[in-house]
Amino acid sequence: YEDSDFSWSKDVETKLATVFKLSKFRPLQRAAINLSMSGRDLFLVMPTGRGKSLCYQLPAVCSKGFTLVISPLVSLMEDQLMYLKSINVPAVTLNASSSKEDSKYVMAGMIDKNSPFKLLYVTPEKISKSKLLMSKLEKAYNMGLLERIAVDEVHCCSQWGHDFRPDYKLLGILKRQFPKVPLIGLTATATSSVLKDCQKILCVQDPVTLTAPFNRPNLYYEVRFKDSEDSTKGIAALIKGKYKDQSGIVYVFSQKDAETVSTELQQRGILAQPYHASMEPSDKTLVHHQWSSKKIQVVVATVAFGMGIDKADVRFVIHHTISKSIENYYQESGRAGRDDDPADCIVFYGFQDIFRISTMVVMENTGQQKLQNMVAYCQNVDRCRRAVMAVHFDEVWDDEECNQACDVCRHGNDYITMDITKHAREVVDIVELAASLDEKFTPLKVCDTWMGKGSAKIRKMSKVTTLSRPEVESIVVHLLLHGYFSEDFSFTPYTTYFYLKAGRKAGLLKNENHSVTMKMRRKVSPPGASVSLTG
Ligand code: ADP
Ligand code: ZN
Repeated sequence: YEDSDFSWSKDVETKLATVFKLSKFRPLQRAAINLSMSGRDLFLVMPTGRGKSLCYQLPAVCSKGFTLVISPLVSLMEDQLMYLKSINVPAVTLNASSSKEDSKYVMAGMIDKNSPFKLLYVTPEKISKSKLLMSKLEKAYNMGLLERIAVDEVHCCSQWGHDFRPDYKLLGILKRQFPKVPLIGLTATATSSVLKDCQKILCVQDPVTLTAPFNRPNLYYEVRFKDSEDSTKGIAALIKGKYKDQSGIVYVFSQKDAETVSTELQQRGILAQPYHASMEPSDKTLVHHQWSSKKIQVVVATVAFGMGIDKADVRFVIHHTISKSIENYYQESGRAGRDDDPADCIVFYGFQDIFRISTMVVMENTGQQKLQNMVAYCQNVDRCRRAVMAVHFDEVWDDEECNQACDVCRHGNDYITMDITKHAREVVDIVELAASLDEKFTPLKVCDTWMGKGSAKIRKMSKVTTLSRPEVESIVVHLLLHGYFSEDFSFTPYTTYFYLKAGRKAGLLKNENHSVTMKMRRKVSPPGASVSLTG
């Protein structure tokens, strides 16, 4: 189905250029379009931002009648409608906030032989609750005007998926009522068992499933330690050295960071500009434009910078602060190297950032777990970085496939396994002493105390370490990820802050035979110092 000699191929190629203003297809798009236009039912699994929408929008534009699109969120629909309007593709929506007049126009348009719109976006609730809509669809179907059905975020059908929505469960009615209309289900993440479940729920007989390859072989993944005194030093060195004259993105945590990091890079002689959600639309457009045309080298951005980036020659995506989940990281870093030439994805991993983001995601139900997975990705020195992502996304993976394109595969020999039992006892002891005095120690304070700074009361009773700061920090994170510490948070009228508690495994340290090991990078030690962790 990758061929371009179908009866519609010429029309499809022309409209790709004239209507969508795109020069070529991305992987799988052509196949998806050909399959759907041949009348096949289809599941399309493709990471966010790779262009799933085109796979139903282009067929819609090339068809006589209209395409019904089921979308879970009104905000997503509004984005799509705005985009379609900007390229002069007539599209409408029916949702809870549609006015009476609009609904009337839509209902009449559905059974108008001249099809005044090409796409009709509705929420799943409309399908399950509006009898009028179903009867109009029935009529349109009988008139041959209902060309195609697209179900966006199709994983929402399945209870095994990560985002189940009850109204999706009732969408089987579409295929039962309109068996001859091809259906296309789209999602960024679904395991094969989730897809099987969706197939059953949607009453689809024999679908084709297209899955975009998860691996991006031209990307090099790396994690570096962030200098806590001067967080932009390492980034500036890379941009002025290795990436001289090349375009890239630096992702930051907050709008304020976007401003300050951008200024710091400018002061170091780099052509950088900030980008974040609170900027004027005209300023955003200007920055985007300057960057696309290489008038500036770097955009220092929050996650707001993403939608609509179609620059192919992004040579580096650097994270000044870790992402809040592996999903986010995969998506953000994935903006590098879309031209398939080599590009780098580097995270600058800072101890304090973990807890900054922790505070942000504390309100989100599953946020903490997702963040921990991201921290584990950074802290990991055991396995290929691609393998960590593959496991996370339930992908089948063979480490050989990385082809040395991540720091762990490339520098595997720089790591040594160390016995950190003695260190674990010392630092857990500090946290337990603090708790016994009814004190709440932030991770930073724990590190400081262990290094002999601050809190004299506790220092008198605890041991001071000779380890370096990076060693201290990575041991604390390691103990947190492995259950020797747990984090808890405390609200004050002004802030929420995290503090460390003894975790479920802390008690094991009292057992003389228990040992804790950790793989560490030799390079963690300051130059010249030998690794002294075994003492
Ligand atoms: P998804 O639904 O997979 O998250 P979208 O359909 O929103 O992705 O597309 C993401 C971006 O990719 C959009 O800005 C879109 O214009 C762009 N895009 C889609 N297809 C192509 C293509 N063939 N070439 C260049 N850009 C494309
Ligand atoms: Zn690797």
